[in-house]
Amino acid sequence: MQKSLLMIPGPVEVDPDVLEVMGRPTDGHTSSAFIETFGACLEGLRDVFAAPDGMPFVIAGSGTFAMELAVANLIEPGDRAVVVETGYFSWRMADVLTRHGAQVEQVGAEVGHAPSLEDVEAALKKGAKVLTVTHVDTSTGVCAPVKDYAALARRYNALVVVDGVCAVAGQEFRQTEWDVDVCLTGSQKALAVPPGLALVMARPRAIEAFKARKTPVASYYADWGLWLPIMQAYMDRKPAYFATPAVNLVAALAESVKQINAEGMEARWARHRRLSNAFKAGAAALGLDQIPVTEDLRAVTLTTLYFPEGVDGSLLKRISAAGVSLAGGLYPTIKTRYFRVGHMGVNGIGELLRTLSAIEQGLGVQSGAGVAAAQQEWLK
Ligand code: PMP
Repeated sequence: MQKSLLMIPGPVEVDPDVLEVMGRPTDGHTSSAFIETFGACLEGLRDVFAAPDGMPFVIAGSGTFAMELAVANLIEPGDRAVVVETGYFSWRMADVLTRHGAQVEQVGAEVGHAPSLEDVEAALKKGAKVLTVTHVDTSTGVCAPVKDYAALARRYNALVVVDGVCAVAGQEFRQTEWDVDVCLTGSQKALAVPPGLALVMARPRAIEAFKARKTPVASYYADWGLWLPIMQAYMDRKPAYFATPAVNLVAALAESVKQINAEGMEARWARHRRLSNAFKAGAAALGLDQIPVTEDLRAVTLTTLYFPEGVDGSLLKRISAAGVSLAGGLYPTIKTRYFRVGHMGVNGIGELLRTLSAIEQGLGVQSGAGVAAAQQEWLK
């Protein structure tokens, strides 16, 4: 039987070459071959994040650990943090901040919206060490205007931390140009690697803030002070050890980063947008409404769709029977009313048409209207 097509918002379908590299015999973490692989991977990540002045960290852990890697090193007890709240993962960020002693103010908006610049500014005016933004909230599919929030934060001298877990490498993001201090992600999303690596890109202002800390970092494993010399050593092609890197996963990431940079970020962002537009056109032709209320708030990396009138979560079982795995709702107040389609992995138009066809089968649509509309948008 054909493996079902994984179209959830991470983990994603992985390129066979990446899987092949990951399955090679495990190398020593200080072998010259692995040092070269890891060093090149870290350097390549600067292009992926568009952060030529960034310090990359790649450490075993999931995206949640990447969030902690950012927060644990920047926050000292009593610091004020403003969280731009667009859904489930902003709440998680608020929890992580609180756990590390921050005084957190969340600035929210109705589901499907992003908080206004005025509201965020009002919170920043009260003083804040850090502003956090979830670039794409995976629970709602809302893409936040990161660039605008970052410009605002700069005026109030707050560090900007972007949770790019559902965005980096799929959604346009220019860390240095947009002046974002820290961006974090996990390997299993648009980087198209299996789960297991936490990634952080920290720019100079964030590193300076870390160095100016008065209290030690509360987490040992997350301490940048212990990891920074290791990452630098790999980039300098020198052996170093603090804690054993996940060598097979790093090798897989290195292969994926090589593929991503061979395509180039501009071309990749444009291709993902074109694919996303095609998928969204297909969904619209099936009469499915999206959660983000305006086009500019709609993520490129995933699509969140309300069930049509009279349809419930059993639709996902029928879609699964047609060979495609999709995800259910996550945002509490509307959890049972919508589903999520991730299209940030190794997908071409073929996978998206197959997904739309499975949705049509699940809905009992015989016209092929969704597939046709997506094809038409793609061929424009
Ligand atoms: N932030 C966002 C925006 C996410 O989408 C996710 C995972 N879905 C996380 C954080 C947490 O990542 P993980 O599940 O890898 O810990």
